[in-house]
Amino acid sequence: MPKRGNQKSFIGDAMRQAGGARSLPKNAPIAIVGAGFAGLAAASRLISLGYNDVTIFEATNRTGGRVYPIAFADGYIQLGAEYINGRKNPIYEIARNLNVLEADNDEEEDDDPLENGILAAGDCTVSQNDRNAFTEFASPLMDKYESMAGQGDQTRSIGQLYSQDYQRFLSNQRATDKKSVYDALTRLYRSSYEAEWSADWNDLSLLNYDQFDTGDSESEEHSMNKMGYKAVLDFISTNVSRDKIKLNSRVTNIDYSGNEVKIRLESGLQPKTFQAVIVTASLGHLKKFARSLFTPQLSRTKLTAIDTLGFGSIGKLFLVYNQPWWSQNTETINILPVDGCTTNSPATDKLFTTFHPMAWNNNVLQGWLSGSAPAAIDAMSDDQVKTAVTGVFRRMLRNNTIPEPTRILRNKWTTDPLFGGTYSYISVAAAKNGASFDQIATPIVVNGQAKVLFAGEATHPDVYQTTIGAYISGRREADRLFLGNW
Ligand SMILES: Cc1cc2nc3c(=O)[nH]c(=O)nc-3n(C[C@H](O)[C@H](O)[C@H](O)COP(=O)(O)OP(=O)(O)OC[C@H]3O[C@@H](n4cnc5c(N)ncnc54)[C@H](O)[C@@H]3O)c2cc1C
Repeated sequence: MPKRGNQKSFIGDAMRQAGGARSLPKNAPIAIVGAGFAGLAAASRLISLGYNDVTIFEATNRTGGRVYPIAFADGYIQLGAEYINGRKNPIYEIARNLNVLEADNDEEEDDDPLENGILAAGDCTVSQNDRNAFTEFASPLMDKYESMAGQGDQTRSIGQLYSQDYQRFLSNQRATDKKSVYDALTRLYRSSYEAEWSADWNDLSLLNYDQFDTGDSESEEHSMNKMGYKAVLDFISTNVSRDKIKLNSRVTNIDYSGNEVKIRLESGLQPKTFQAVIVTASLGHLKKFARSLFTPQLSRTKLTAIDTLGFGSIGKLFLVYNQPWWSQNTETINILPVDGCTTNSPATDKLFTTFHPMAWNNNVLQGWLSGSAPAAIDAMSDDQVKTAVTGVFRRMLRNNTIPEPTRILRNKWTTDPLFGGTYSYISVAAAKNGASFDQIATPIVVNGQAKVLFAGEATHPDVYQTTIGAYISGRREADRLFLGNW
């Protein structure tokens, strides 16, 4: 997940004034679409402001959305969000108060795959010289690209910038026989951007480095203990009673053409009408369904923003074994298939990049997927993934005794129509046409009243992508209704 941060501060949530003249009356029925962090934060805030008629429609049979903790051993495996970006934000505060932050995570993390961990390259040997030469070239690049953001052409992609630098590096090296090794290292290096930003680096505009902003001076990412986001999810749901949440209730249409908003579910039109609805469906869901979800149709500006802002994917695989087969001091296993090196290395070997033992359970290896890999792996059955992953370990670590995992735990984010991927980013097209998260966030006002409001990570201008952006945006829209602020 993203590990960035600079100076701007995000929207404060302290709105303690009395409601404004246009604010919604306390008994107004309000609907919320989605029980992820944005939906739950909106509901909780509305309830604490005195609104008593709040209904959340959630399509799945659980709350949390892209926060998806599942019980495992004596803790929770996080199939979705896992880390907290920075400290100056309410999610960090909540986690700190709940005592679920890892004790030793105050340091800026160093997850550079080039410097850390095993390089598993099969029948090839990557010499220390080659590794050093590549590391010396690549390691300063992220800082260089960050410093380029905010000046010059922001529509350039990270992939484009890298490709220019890489060509220069190759010609300086004057060792054409090493190209396949450097290409393999490039694949690994690329994955560190793509797993952070959930974007193909050829579509990841430089503008992200200017705009993404946690408000912290250092970019840092905090991990939590084995309860993690389960504890945070429970906490933010505290004052939202279960009778306010309609599970298994997928909204297929929001009709705001009349005085009251009508909600249609898959099961049919809801008899109850609402004075306002807060929509928190993911950008991935809106990309697929925005044109049928709203009556009348959304404005052209909003649709263009939905169509052109990026929504990509990362993937997480939790491989469960009876006992660890990796040595106790293993930090990271980086998979490095070098073209032409290892016999019988199938194309699926290149889907895998980085694995590490899970922090709180010795029998679980956690894998990260990026680029095109999440969609490719989501299309495979668990048995196929077990075979592919065991094969790649055996080939790349040259050890045929590595066992198959007994279980694979994962969620198929790319194929689920309720998500359509993992989180948003500013694509090259959006940087070019000026599409912004603010355009998605702008409420639809009818006859002087905000009728349809938008929250969710892809409506936060600075901390999009994150649970932080989702949470703040939910509270923002609740406050908007309370203050009549539109
Ligand atoms: C694998 C993964 C790893 C991540 N890692 C991190 C991380 O480490 N740190 C971090 O900060 N963030 C991370 N994120 C991103 C973070 O999880 C999200 O930004 C955040 O949880 C989004 O919350 P939300 O409320 O905006 O949307 P969601 O969580 O998507 O909630 C929207 C809800 O709406 C429901 N819904 C959608 N359509 C409809 C409909 N038509 N009718 C009814 N209900 C509907 C969905 O089922 C969902 O429950 C990660 C995400 C993923 C998937």
